[in-house]
Amino acid sequence: MLGLMQDYPLLVHTILDHAARNFGDREIVTRAVEGGIRRTTYAGLHSRARRVAKALVLEGIEPGERVATMAWNTDRHMETWYGIMGMGGVCHTVNPRLFPEQVIYILNHAEDKILFIDTTFLPLVEAIKDQLPLLQKIIVLTDTANMSDQSIANMIAYEDWLSEVDDEYQWHEMDENSAAAMCYTSGTTGDPKGVLYSHRSNVLHAMAVNQADALCLKSSDSLMPVVPMFHANAWALTYAGPAVGAKLVMPGAMMDGESIYELLDTEQVTVTAAVPTIWSMLLAHLEATGSMLPTLDRVLIGGSACPPSMMDKFEDYYDVRVIHAWGMTEMSPLGTMCTPTYATEKLSPEQQRNIRLKQGRSPYLVEMKIMDDDNNELPRDGKSFGRLLVKGPSISKAYFKLDKQILDDEGWFDTGDVATIDQFGFMQITDRAKDVIKSGGEWISSIDIENVAVGYSGVIEAAVIGLPHPKWEERPLLIIVAEPSRAVSKEEILSHLEGKIAKWWMPDDVVFVDQIPHTATGKISKKDLREQFKNFRFES
Ligand code: AMP
Repeated sequence: MLGLMQDYPLLVHTILDHAARNFGDREIVTRAVEGGIRRTTYAGLHSRARRVAKALVLEGIEPGERVATMAWNTDRHMETWYGIMGMGGVCHTVNPRLFPEQVIYILNHAEDKILFIDTTFLPLVEAIKDQLPLLQKIIVLTDTANMSDQSIANMIAYEDWLSEVDDEYQWHEMDENSAAAMCYTSGTTGDPKGVLYSHRSNVLHAMAVNQADALCLKSSDSLMPVVPMFHANAWALTYAGPAVGAKLVMPGAMMDGESIYELLDTEQVTVTAAVPTIWSMLLAHLEATGSMLPTLDRVLIGGSACPPSMMDKFEDYYDVRVIHAWGMTEMSPLGTMCTPTYATEKLSPEQQRNIRLKQGRSPYLVEMKIMDDDNNELPRDGKSFGRLLVKGPSISKAYFKLDKQILDDEGWFDTGDVATIDQFGFMQITDRAKDVIKSGGEWISSIDIENVAVGYSGVIEAAVIGLPHPKWEERPLLIIVAEPSRAVSKEEILSHLEGKIAKWWMPDDVVFVDQIPHTATGKISKKDLREQFKNFRFES
């Protein structure tokens, strides 16, 4: 027997309807790519998103077809998101930091006909345009006055394109399982893989993120998503914010410490989110200028492990609560967030700190477990570590146009991460499975060593890789980027590590480099480092 409740499909654009209806005058503030600050409201965004939808219909875009965006976090980018999804199209966010060959591959693989783009990225598209046979139109997210003089066929300024239509448009009626958005993983091996979110998965994920024990967004919050909209759904913040009517502050193209601080300050931001690299730049700016963060309440840090020294600085000095989070593109992306429970609040301050450094616990709608190599589930004891598997309604079951089974027989997805889970349900990542260091039959966590190393004054960035060793199979090499003004030595680093990590985890050597290679999503590229140091030999 079926229940007798209304059939109300979970569609992404109903979030914007809700925001416009109930919080129509709530502000959306953008640092415009052209310079200056632009202000609109949820009512304004709702109207323009419907114009985008109507104009796309006139362009002949059919429901289910992919429409690409390559753009910074701005109000215009949000209009295109909601407009594309609301007319039944699939909003395909393209990461401009990928290699040009990868951008060519994914635009062709997704069969994008239209591309919305910021002027910043036009040189990239001009260089590859001849290899994009399916692309019919390029809509530049600006007005005529700021239009680029790049010579690309079928290019039009967004404001001109939009001026042709009004906002008389009814959202397309569709099933909640219809595809809404698409994002390719920046896989380190093989071609990028297309993750295809549905309306239902995005709505459920936004609601999970908004739970009080997760990000707990409120209409009184001023939310600045610094994490780019071209990376993993902008961690759902572009849905979660409107769902509660939070003010939105969109940082545009400027991610440096000074620009981020300026918006945090002038727009009285209370919640923000980004990868640790962004926060290192902000903290350096604060330190250099003596500025404080009086309105900021919480900062969501994920994408890579949050170093303890970063958490301490935010919490102890600036009085900002850090919420460490973990996830991946295939998970929409948030899988865990680290907030206390009734049980952990009773622990000693030292124990609580150790727990808060973990990647966190899963909200309702994410299940996780850890498995050993023989596929036995490991205990939740905070010590046993194994492959991390996940399940839930906002987690991929397949990749776009890829005929490959990615779930096991019981429907679990292997994240490729290695982790522990403790008795309170808090998960801690040890490594990517392919980055784990195997020494004498045991595993060494590179993340733990890196976290301690970056806590040493003068260390800007640290990476640990495993290199072959005749006796132990592999041993850790610690690679450091140090402040040029501080002559940090190998001996200083090793003595800083002593006592903070297991003796047998101590790196066999420490090398100093000017920079560490990163992937398109800002993570340390261990693959490139292993290549760079493939001829390195430990002194015996
Ligand atoms: P992406 O799909 O590009 O978002 O990358 C997902 C991967 O980033 C995960 O599988 C993890 O390996 C890594 N990751 C994300 N968040 C964290 C975190 N808080 N700590 C450590 N690794 C993380």
